[in-house]
Amino acid sequence: MVAEAIDFKINKVAESRVNQLDPENIVFGTLFTDHMLVADCVNGEWQTPEILPYGDIAYNPALASLHYGQSIFEGMKAFRNVDDEVVMFRPEENFKRFNISAERMCMAQVPEEIFMGGLQKLLELDNAWVPDGENNSLYLRPFMFASDVYLGVRPSFNYRFMIIMSPAGQYYANPPKVKIETQFIRAAEGGVGYAKCAGNYAASLYPAKLAQEQGYTQLLWTDAKTHTKFEESGTMNVFFVKDGKLITPKTSTTILKGITRDSLITIARDKGYEVTEQDVFVKDIIEGIKDGSVTEVFGAGTAVVVSPFSAIGYEGEDYVLPEINSDSVSSVLKKGLNDVRKGISADTHGWVYKV
Ligand SMILES: *Cc1c(COP(=O)(O)O)cnc(C)c1O
Repeated sequence: MVAEAIDFKINKVAESRVNQLDPENIVFGTLFTDHMLVADCVNGEWQTPEILPYGDIAYNPALASLHYGQSIFEGMKAFRNVDDEVVMFRPEENFKRFNISAERMCMAQVPEEIFMGGLQKLLELDNAWVPDGENNSLYLRPFMFASDVYLGVRPSFNYRFMIIMSPAGQYYANPPKVKIETQFIRAAEGGVGYAKCAGNYAASLYPAKLAQEQGYTQLLWTDAKTHTKFEESGTMNVFFVKDGKLITPKTSTTILKGITRDSLITIARDKGYEVTEQDVFVKDIIEGIKDGSVTEVFGAGTAVVVSPFSAIGYEGEDYVLPEINSDSVSSVLKKGLNDVRKGISADTHGWVYKV
């Protein structure tokens, strides 16, 4: 087991705060577990990782990441399965993607022993924070930032890697209405769209705010060059159901390669659906909603799992999608994914990682 391969310095809390967790009333990203992991990379050398009581960290005003944005993260989840065991879902994929993001942002590579071992140790300590309940989980947030105290523009020599954990419940209460964005862009070819770097999310806030002022919850991004092809939505990949078949944009340097996306494609094929990864043109989908051949459009990502959209706004017009029921493709796939994670159905692809 990789977790045993290195030492962790552990400083436990005197008293757990787990009584602050109310599984019936979880507000995303507001409550954090008892412990956090801190590991520093100093001039290319990883120091002994430490597990500490969750709390503030001190920073110097010249901290490089605050100025030039060398900062990346991952988002993943731990679940309590039907046998009351704590499991993670495909964590090695998050580990690999984290280092892909690190490479693009010219940051240190994080060793597997620290990333995977840190998750393992934290989940052992904060096991009681993994909530029960159908839509509940413990959200895991590994992240890393440049920690040089220096105002010149160059890659930092020092990095801090951390993991914090926060209980999560249902994400959107109602199916969101989304707007097709044809003016602003999220990512361009040759850019950093495939990296989970902090700046991507900062850049998306303004166009998302304008859409919210128009009554939309979220954006559907189109390609930077022509604005004719779908890319993804907020922090989700997107799927379309047309004539009963599943379609999703093929991945490129402008699209974040979602682990949920990959899992849903596999589950859909296992269940006998036809799935294609291809260019998806806005005009084809709008036509399809009008003539009834497009019956579902949904987002897919760790935070939301599967999120069917109620309507799509395009050039000032709203195109309403049929209501979702338990036979809808998105519902079947969501259940398929949840059943594997919860241990209700067999883990035939080796996705579930027991802590
Ligand atoms: C994280 C993220 C996704 C979803 O990835 P998952 O691995 O499924 O959580 C999709 N798009 C963007 C932009 C993201 O940041």
